[in-house]
Amino acid sequence: MGTAASTGRIAALTGPETVEVKEFDLPDVGPGAVLLAVRRANVCGTDVHQWHYESAVLREAGLGHEFVGEIVALGEGVTTDFAGEPVAVGDRVVPVYYLTCHKCPPCLRSEFNLCQNGLAEWKVPPDVAPHFRSGFATHYYVFPGQFFYKVPDQVDDATVAGANCGLAQMLFVLDEVGIGAGDTLVVQGAGGLGLYAAAIAHERGARVIAIDAVPERLELARQFGATETVSLADFPDSPDRVKRVHELTDGIGADMVLEVTGVPASFVEAIDLARVGGRIASVGNLNADATVTMTPGLVTRKSVHIHGVLRYDPWYLHKAIAFLARRQHLHPFEAFSDRSFPLADVTEALRAGESRSVARVAIVP
Ligand SMILES: [Zn+2]
Ligand SMILES: [Zn+2]
Repeated sequence: MGTAASTGRIAALTGPETVEVKEFDLPDVGPGAVLLAVRRANVCGTDVHQWHYESAVLREAGLGHEFVGEIVALGEGVTTDFAGEPVAVGDRVVPVYYLTCHKCPPCLRSEFNLCQNGLAEWKVPPDVAPHFRSGFATHYYVFPGQFFYKVPDQVDDATVAGANCGLAQMLFVLDEVGIGAGDTLVVQGAGGLGLYAAAIAHERGARVIAIDAVPERLELARQFGATETVSLADFPDSPDRVKRVHELTDGIGADMVLEVTGVPASFVEAIDLARVGGRIASVGNLNADATVTMTPGLVTRKSVHIHGVLRYDPWYLHKAIAFLARRQHLHPFEAFSDRSFPLADVTEALRAGESRSVARVAIVP
């Protein structure tokens, strides 16, 4: 790697659980675009789903969307990031991994997180120029109009690598659904998303209770601001977990429940964990086929508010970087990616990411 390189490599999905690292000439950088050298990319749960061919849109695409890069070349007219900060070759930046077209029905309602054309470039096979549309690669092409922000020197790569997916999304979710001082937040799943949510809720003065099966993740949850944890080892049955959370909340239940497990049954449990009139954020369940048995009458009688939230408004990435600069010394953000692999070992990295034993694994090309 390095600014003198004339070719780059990218991990392309060529079949279910089949990844090929392909080499291409580095593209010319058009007006308004930016070429990055990828410094560090995290394996997110979504990457594992894509690897299993569960995303109909991203079957022929490159893998990886959670990363930090360094500017290699600036297209004509690019002098600042999307917060007006001057940028130059060598600066570290993080891009928003999807596009906002400003023309589709959600964009016209200013619901930029739901842009229907958000994956218009990412879904294009890497064989097509400019090739580098995803993060498990030596390089990444930031398209004109694609939001990106400069990373301040004091925030290191391991800390910021998860900003453009997990952290920005959790800041958006907690704003959309609402969490404040004195509220109790129950986080179902203490993976990357759950730990970020705990840290944000902690800063806002909320009390955080984390539920997970993995002891190391519950220990991390405490380091990220959870004051109580509920282990699936101690409470394997849902009614017992619900009872435990009600004990911890004076019999009331949680003001807000955040589902970031991706386990369909968690959605049903969230309704039981929430207080009467409480709020539920459904974030982790993305599978369009998984089903579950539930009691709609309980939603009505408890008057819980259920919010499904996808992605984030692009400027939340700027808030995420500021959050890290402000809070990075209070929580071990760098512990998020505690194992790293070279780009050639992307399949091993995906397997390790799937094992759920660690919060995140990283690819360092
Ligand atoms: Zn992600
Ligand atoms: Zn749009």
